[in-house]
Amino acid sequence: ALLITDECINCDVCEPECPNGAIAMGESIYEIDPARCTECVGHHDEPQCKVVCPVECIEFNPAWREDQDQLMDKYRLLTGLL
Ligand code: SF4
Ligand code: SF4
Repeated sequence: ALLITDECINCDVCEPECPNGAIAMGESIYEIDPARCTECVGHHDEPQCKVVCPVECIEFNPAWREDQDQLMDKYRLLTGLL
C-alpha cells in the first residue's frame, strides 16, 4: 500500500483518481486506507495517485509492503472475484 506524507497540500487531485476508493480526507491531510490500496494493481500499470500528485508526497507504506501476488489477491477481494 502507499502512504501520503505530511507534505500533502490537500489539492484534491488524487482522490477521484483512485480506482479502489482508498483515498479520503483525514483530520488534516488526505489519507490512504492501506486495506483498500492495491498500488493500482488490477486497474493500472502505475499507482495513479502517485502519477497525479503535484508535490510527490505519496510513498510506499513501510508498514504495508506487499508483493504483486498479494496485491492481486487484494484486488480480487475488493472486486468480489475471490
Ligand atoms: Fe488508490 Fe492506486 Fe493510489 Fe493505492 S496507489 S491509493 S489504489 S490510486
Ligand atoms: Fe495531497 Fe498529493 Fe493528493 Fe494533492 S494529490 S491531495 S497533494 S496527496
